[in-house]
Amino acid sequence: MGITIYNTLTRKKEPFVPITPGKVGIYLCGPTVYKPSHIGHAVGPIIFDAIKRYLVFRGFEVNWVVNITDVDDKLIIEAAEQNTTMSELAERITADYLKAMDTLYVQGVDIRPKASEHIGDIIDIINKLIKKDIAYPSGGDVYFDVSKDDDYGKLSNRNLEDQAGQRDLQSAEKRNPGDFALWKNAKEEEPDEVKFDSPWGKGRPGWHIECSAMASRYLGDTFDIHGGGMDLIFPHHENEIAQSECASGETFSKYWMHHGLTRVNTKKISKSDASPEMQAALSKMTLHNLLDEYPGELIRFFILSTQYRRPIEYSTQEIESKRKGLETFYRLFERAERVCGISPYETADANTPNPNEGPDKDLAGACADVADTSLTESWSVAFEAFTKAMDDDFNTAGAIASLFDFAGRVNAFIEKSGLDKGGSDQVKRDAITASAALIRLARLIGVFIEPQVKKAGSDDGLTDKAMQVLIEVRKHLKKKKDFETADLIRDSLTRSGITLEDRPDGTVWRAE
Ligand SMILES: [Zn+2]
Repeated sequence: MGITIYNTLTRKKEPFVPITPGKVGIYLCGPTVYKPSHIGHAVGPIIFDAIKRYLVFRGFEVNWVVNITDVDDKLIIEAAEQNTTMSELAERITADYLKAMDTLYVQGVDIRPKASEHIGDIIDIINKLIKKDIAYPSGGDVYFDVSKDDDYGKLSNRNLEDQAGQRDLQSAEKRNPGDFALWKNAKEEEPDEVKFDSPWGKGRPGWHIECSAMASRYLGDTFDIHGGGMDLIFPHHENEIAQSECASGETFSKYWMHHGLTRVNTKKISKSDASPEMQAALSKMTLHNLLDEYPGELIRFFILSTQYRRPIEYSTQEIESKRKGLETFYRLFERAERVCGISPYETADANTPNPNEGPDKDLAGACADVADTSLTESWSVAFEAFTKAMDDDFNTAGAIASLFDFAGRVNAFIEKSGLDKGGSDQVKRDAITASAALIRLARLIGVFIEPQVKKAGSDDGLTDKAMQVLIEVRKHLKKKKDFETADLIRDSLTRSGITLEDRPDGTVWRAE
C-alpha cells in the first residue's frame, strides 16, 4: 500500500502519485506579516514539516515552498498605525515568525519567497490573462472575469449564483459581482513603497495572484500538493486555481490539502475573524507568548496529536495533558540513560541522517541487533502501525499512538530485565537500541530532534545544583530519622510542581 491523500478538489482519499516519479513539489500559503503570528499560523507549517519529513523517509525528493505575504492592505494599514514603513513592519514580523518556526522544529522549508520580490512574475500572469480576455483592466485596477472560467467554483463547490450578492458591488468597474482584483490601483495617500510600476499604472497586486505567481515560479505551472487552512478554500484557493489554470492551461495543483482551524473556547480562529473578542483572544495567544510559556516541542506534539483535517481545540488543559504524554517519553529516555550510561539521543543521532539530505534507510531494521525477541517483535508492530497511519493521509495522531505503545514495551522490558538494579551488557544494549529506535521513528514527524532536559538547563544547571543540595539534605535528615523535616521538604517541593522520586540508585527530581 502506498500513501493516500484526502484531496479537497475531489472530496475523497486518493493514492498519492507524484507528477514526476520520485519528486514532490509542495506549496503552503504562508503568513501575512502585519501582526505577530498566533497558534493558528503554526498549524500548517508544523503539519507540512511532518509531511515533508515523512515523504523524504519514503524516498521522495521534496521541494517545499512557503511564501511570505509582505504586500497587502493589512500591512499598509498597520504600518500607518505604527507610524512605520511597510517593509520595516514586514521585516520585523517575519523575523519573529521565523524564530518561532525554528523553536517549533519547522526545519524543512526549502524556499520562502516574498511577494514584494515577485511583482514581475505577477504582472506576467495578469498580462497572459488580459491577452486571453479572461482579465480586464478597469480604472487602474485589473479584475478576473469569473464568467469566463467554466471551472470556477470547483474547489469550494460553489456556483456563481451562490457568490453573487455575497460580494461587494461597490465597484461599478466590475463586469460581474464575483470578479476579483488581480491588481489594485494605488491611492494617492498611500506611501511610495506600495506603488509598484505596472502596465496599468502604479499599484499593487491582489493577495490571490501573489500565491499563484510564487507557486509557479518555484514549482512550475503544475505541481503536486497545495496546502493551507480550511478558511483559505474560498476565496483564496479558488481564485488561485482560476488565475493559474486560465493563464497556463494546465492543472495548477494535483492535490489540495486543507488543515482544520484552531479553536479557542469553541470559536474558530481564522484570518477573516475580526470580532473584538477573537482579536483579544488572539493577541494573548501570539506564538511568541506561547513559546515563552511552553517548549516548542510541546506545542508541536500538541498540534500533531490531532489528525490534520480535524479542528484543534486549544486550551491550557489540553496542552497540559499533552505535556504529561511527552513526559512519558522523556522519563523513558532518562531511565534508559541512567541504567545504561549512554543517552539514547546520542545513539539515535549516530544513525539518523539530516532529513533534508536523505531518508533514514535502516529504520525498519533498527532493532535487528536486539537479542530479546519480544522487543524486536514489538518494534516491528510499532514501525508498521506508524507507517500505516502516516500512509493513510498523514495521520500523525495514529502515528503518535504507536510511539506510546512502543514506549510502554521498552519500559516493560527494562522492568522485566531488572535493569534498574543492573544488568548484562547485552540487556543494556537492547534497552538503548530500542529507545534510540523510538526516537528515530518519532523524528519522522519532527519530534525528539534534541534532548529537552538539557535545553531546560538554560540557567546553566543552577536549578539542578540547588535541587541536588536539597536532595542531599533530605537524605541526611532521613539518616538521622528526622522524617518529619524530610517529608516537609518533599511536600513543599510537590506543591511547587517538583516531584522527588526515590529510586534504588538514588533520588531524582522532575519539574511538572
Ligand atoms: Zn496563498
